[in-house]
Amino acid sequence: MGIEEKLPSGFLLTTVESAAGWVRKSSLFPATFGLACCAIEMMTTGAGRYDLARFGMEVFRASPRQSDLMIVAGRVSQKMAPVLRQVYDQMANPKWVISMGVCASSGGMFNNYAIVQGVDHIVPVDIYLPGCPPRPEMLLDAIIKLHEKIQAEPLGVNKLRAQELAEELALDA
Ligand code: SF4
Repeated sequence: MGIEEKLPSGFLLTTVESAAGWVRKSSLFPATFGLACCAIEMMTTGAGRYDLARFGMEVFRASPRQSDLMIVAGRVSQKMAPVLRQVYDQMANPKWVISMGVCASSGGMFNNYAIVQGVDHIVPVDIYLPGCPPRPEMLLDAIIKLHEKIQAEPLGVNKLRAQELAEELALDA
């Protein structure tokens, strides 16, 4: 007989890692950070029709220090890149990034000197969301996929990834 069958009802067995993953995925705080047209769809996702609150994350935080999710919504200009990195550095750990739309993910149609050709040159990206612009349903789907990823992550992995990226950037310099 397994231990679960011996316990009275009302007991729940889990691991610290699973419990931490569940808590983390259930209370993400996105930073208020829109860059271009994709941000309009992001704002729509937070409004009543699509009701982002159903996923435990209706409050976009004005301070990066109170945020653990950056949704890069729109193209990233070269001038904005250091600002974006600074906002990311100021966010609380562990933290995650969704690259929303083709411009944020690869530069999209803006293949020129002014636009960063993929925000993953600046910050580590967890989820790439295609589209121009992605609809709110697509952003919700990306958030649900991020939830699954967070639930499966071992504790401390984000910190490691940030360190790896910092080392890569140092090598490139
Ligand atoms: Fe605008 Fe399309 Fe680029 Fe989004 S992907 S920032 S909607 S041009």
